[in-house]
This record gives sequence, structure tokens and C-alpha cells, in this order.
Amino acid sequence: KDYIQQIQFSKATELFESESIIHVMQHHVENRGDKTAFTLLYNANKDDYELSFNDIDRRARSLAVTLGKTINPGDRVILVQPDSEEFIVSLLGCIYAKIIAVPVPRPASNKDWGKIKTILDDCEAKVIALASEDAEIVESWLSDHYPTGHVSVLATDKVGDEHCDEWKMPSVSREDIAFLQYTSGSTGNPKGVMITHGNILHNEMVIQDLTRCDENSALVCWLPLFHDMGLVSFLFLTIYSGANCVLMPTAAFVRQPFRWLKAISDYRACYSGGPNFAYDLLSKRKPNQKQRESLDLSCWTVAANGSEPVRAETLENFSAVYESLGFPETAFCNCYGSAECTLYISSGGHDSAPLIEAFDADYLQKNQIKLADDMGESSNSSIKLVSCGQVVSGQRAIIVDTEKQQKCADETIGEIWLQGEKVSISQGYWGKKDATAETFEATLDGESGTFFRTGDLGFIRNNELFITGREKDLIIISGMNHYPQDIEQTLDSIGGPLRPGGVAAFSVPTAAGEVLVIVQEVKNANLSQEEADEIISQIKFEIFKHHQLPVNAVCLIRSKTIDKTSSGKIQRRLTRQKWLDRQLDVISEMTDEKVNAE
Ligand code: ATP
Ligand code: MG
Repeated sequence: KDYIQQIQFSKATELFESESIIHVMQHHVENRGDKTAFTLLYNANKDDYELSFNDIDRRARSLAVTLGKTINPGDRVILVQPDSEEFIVSLLGCIYAKIIAVPVPRPASNKDWGKIKTILDDCEAKVIALASEDAEIVESWLSDHYPTGHVSVLATDKVGDEHCDEWKMPSVSREDIAFLQYTSGSTGNPKGVMITHGNILHNEMVIQDLTRCDENSALVCWLPLFHDMGLVSFLFLTIYSGANCVLMPTAAFVRQPFRWLKAISDYRACYSGGPNFAYDLLSKRKPNQKQRESLDLSCWTVAANGSEPVRAETLENFSAVYESLGFPETAFCNCYGSAECTLYISSGGHDSAPLIEAFDADYLQKNQIKLADDMGESSNSSIKLVSCGQVVSGQRAIIVDTEKQQKCADETIGEIWLQGEKVSISQGYWGKKDATAETFEATLDGESGTFFRTGDLGFIRNNELFITGREKDLIIISGMNHYPQDIEQTLDSIGGPLRPGGVAAFSVPTAAGEVLVIVQEVKNANLSQEEADEIISQIKFEIFKHHQLPVNAVCLIRSKTIDKTSSGKIQRRLTRQKWLDRQLDVISEMTDEKVNAE
């Protein structure tokens, strides 16, 4: 197969032809059972410790046997576990029993257990696997909402490895579903993407090829494990490659982001990553002298940046702070992914510096691509975009003009469509025939086969894929395209009374056409009318200055109340709906006559 031949790192293909991820795990158990698979840092009530491949295999086997006593292969189990040993064991325990694992975020507070109901009902799960500290509250919640008792809880930390010898390898193939990955819910309700063993194996081969990690390598992960980036690019990569994954709970990173870099340096990790905001955060919070002395980042050969738009400025700022501490510029590896494609869709190369190009802003607004004349010190007339590299082996991308239903001319922005031999691309959404047909089985005149529609806009230039934004979030005013993230970035950089990361830009239709609305969190909830008016004027001024756009409504809201997904992405459509329904926690607002004329 061509796509295997394109893989450059020979170790990446060694286990690719395996029947399933269970077979891969068994291979490591036989060949390096005592080797550390996970190193767990910053645990709630425990010192740092290590788990070998044997340790997790024995616990997963025992759990599989326990689950198999009450439910059947193909049934679904919700995993609502902390980022810990229990998550790893319960995921593998389900897979070992051929039960479909469904990772979901653990609710932030006991009042929020209702949040898992939508997913529980959507996949008709029979068991909720959790930590015993959560068992009582979830049991009482279940007895209120599912009084017939067809959903039960299982506290996995109460299941030791006592049943491990009773486990038998199930008959499992590459086509079997291993888990459901619910999408983040940035643009609507999360949908359960069906991920098979074959999907995992292909995506892991690609990631191992990119990272060149093997059983001698260390990886560092602070990303939530219920989300595709943590799950596929760290947890499953560890099982595929035999590496040691140094894990810290997301909360430990949030409390002290420097811990991320310290772990990379201490464990000599070759691969780690996160969304753009994490790099941004660490370039703003510069390490002090003592921290600098403890840091040597020269081991970090692949620094993945993905899941949200990658900003040129962030890469430049991060390099400026950390290059002198050994961080190699070639380590930046910008990647584009989605749950529907298991994870990686495209990425930069193993040892090439990221490609950043400046484009003419006026052309971009008309869906056209032209390199900026001034070669781009970001100005009003040019925008720097960062390439997300090349599409992974086995898949190809085309750019589509969805209105005309045809392929775009070269260097034109359109929707990114993907095609492959179903290698990393899922078969579809759990229980959603229509949405599956619409998203995964698109066809186009003149092109054979079906395509997966990413819903993202972008273009290809010299074989490099650039993502410009989401189709559903695009703001079109007077026939010109504006990407909300650019407008939001302008406000983020003002700082002062505005809370960075707490802003949504969107448009709404009015009698006078589409108009721009800004919903912005402010740090101080007790603003006088005068202060609020001043902030609103500043917002209008900055957006006009940088984007030549009038703002027709500004709504200042309370700190930390804007809706975000569990992976931290702004939910613009939900915010827009709440603005229209007047459901936001408003401190002050302004709407002009255009909006009111509606
Ligand atoms: P939902 O599909 O439920 O609205 P979501 O699309 O955010 O949520 P994910 O599958 O977790 O759910 O995220 C994939 C999306 O994240 C991509 O379709 C794209 O919009 C965005 N994304 C991922 N990587 C990048 C990147 N490097 N640059 C820009 N956007 C990215
Ligand atoms: Mg999506």
C-alpha cells in the first residue's frame, strides 16, 4: 500500500498491520512487560509513580472480566474518570472486553452531573465507569433520572487485578469500534465519532512517524485524556510505540503551567504539545532565573501545536523566550486534526521549521490568496498565516467551493474535504445516519469516491495546507469575509479591563444586512456607566482600526461566563444564541440603530 511506503520511520510500520490495539498491547507486554509505560505526576493523594505495561495489562484484563459479567461486547460504557491511572485502565479494560469506551469530561462540580446525560442517552450506555469518590453522587443522580436501573456505575479503583487470569483474548478485527470520540461541541451538540481499531492503528503510525518516538522515548502530556488530542496523540501513541508517557492532570498544568516545560526537560521528552494558547501562556509568563537554570529543552524535537488556530506571533514569542534554553525552532510542528479523522489530518515535518507566510488581507477577504507585497510585518494590509503542513499519508485534501459545488481553483479559499481509504477517517457518527451521510459521504462532480467534509475553510499552496477558520463561524459583512478569531485576537491584545480569551465575535442578520456583535468578558463586574461606555468605545475603535469594521453591538459580560467547550474552545454559536435570547450575564451593553431596526 502506497500510504505505508510513504512512512519514513521504519519502527512506525512495525505494528501497523496488527489486528487491533489489543494485539499491539500484548506485543509490548510480551517484549517489554516490565518497562514503564506511564509516569504519573501531581496525583491527588499520592506521590509520583510509574506503571509498567504489565501493571496496566493486568488491571485492564481484570476489569474486562468484571465488565463482561454484566454487559456484552458492543455495549457502551461512559468513562468519567480523572486524568489518572483509572482513565487508562478503564479505557483498556473496555477495549479488552470489546466493549465500546466513551470518554467524557468529568463534571467540574457535583451539581453538573446532568451534563453527561446528553451523551449517555445518545450512545445508550449501560455502565458509567468512575472513581469510587464519585460513585455515591452518581448513583443518586441515576436513581432520579433512570429509575428503571438500566444504567449502573462501576468504581474501577475497587477492581484490582484479581480476575486477570480469567481474561481471554476476544476475536477482534480492524473494523470493530474501539471507542466513541465525542466532538468538542464548538459548533453544536457533540457527536459521537466511531473510531475503529484500524483508525487508531493508522493514526498512530502517522504520529509515530512524525515524532520518531519508540520504546526508549519519553512523551509529556497534560492534555485532558477524554479529548482526542490527549487520548490519541499521547495515550494511544504510548501503547502503539512502547514509549513512556509522563502524565500530569490538566489541573496541575493550569495551576502552574511551568510544570509542563519542567517535565519535558527532566524526562528528556522528545514529544509534547497542546493548543496555541498553552504556548502563548508560557511566552507571557516568562520563567524566573531559578527556573531558567533548571531548564534544558534541547531534547524537545516535536512540539505539536494544534486543535485551535496556530498564530505566527505565538510561535515567534515562544521561540524568543525559550530558544536560549535549548528549544529548537525546528521543533514546532503545527498540526490540524479532528475527531472525525481519529486526530491528525495534517502536520508539519519532523525537523523542519514552521512555514509562516504573509498574505494580502484584501484578497483573503474575497477568498483569494496573494502573498503580501511588504512580506509582512503584520499590518492592516497583510495577515500572517501558519501552514499546518501536509496531509497525512493515505489521505488527500481538496478545496471545495460549496456554493458552486465544484473544486476551487488553486490558491483559493474553500471548504477542506478529505478522502482516504478510510484509514484514519471514521465511518461516521454513532446513531446519526443523516449527519453521517451529509458529512462523511459527500460527492462532487468530476471526483470519484466520497469525501469527509471538515467544515473548515482553508487553501493549499505548494502542497501546504493552511486553515483559515470554520465555515459556520465565518462573518460575512458587505460581501467580505472576516474570521472571528482575528477580531477576537485584536481585543485579546488590548488587555486592561478586558479578560483575554473571554470574547466571541459573530454576526447576526438585520433588516440592514449582517452586522457584527462582540460579547466580551470584563474583569470588573462593578463598572460605572462611564467606565463601561469607555470600554465599549475602545472596542469599537480597535476593531475599526484593525479590521475596518463597524461594531453594531457590544455586550460586556461577567468574567468566566462565556461558553467554552470542555477542551477550552469558544462556543460562538451558543454565545450568539444566548445573545439573541438575552440569556447572557450582562454588565453593560450597547446596540446601535441597525440592530434595533430588526
Ligand atoms: P464540533 O465538531 O462539535 O463543533 P470541534 O470541531 O471543535 O467541535 P474537534 O473534533 O475536537 O471538535 O476539533 C476539530 C476542529 O478543531 C477542526 O475541525 C478545526 O475547526 C479545529 N482545529 C483543529 N486544529 C486546528 C488548527 N491547527 N488550526 C485551526 N483550527 C483547528
Ligand atoms: Mg468539528
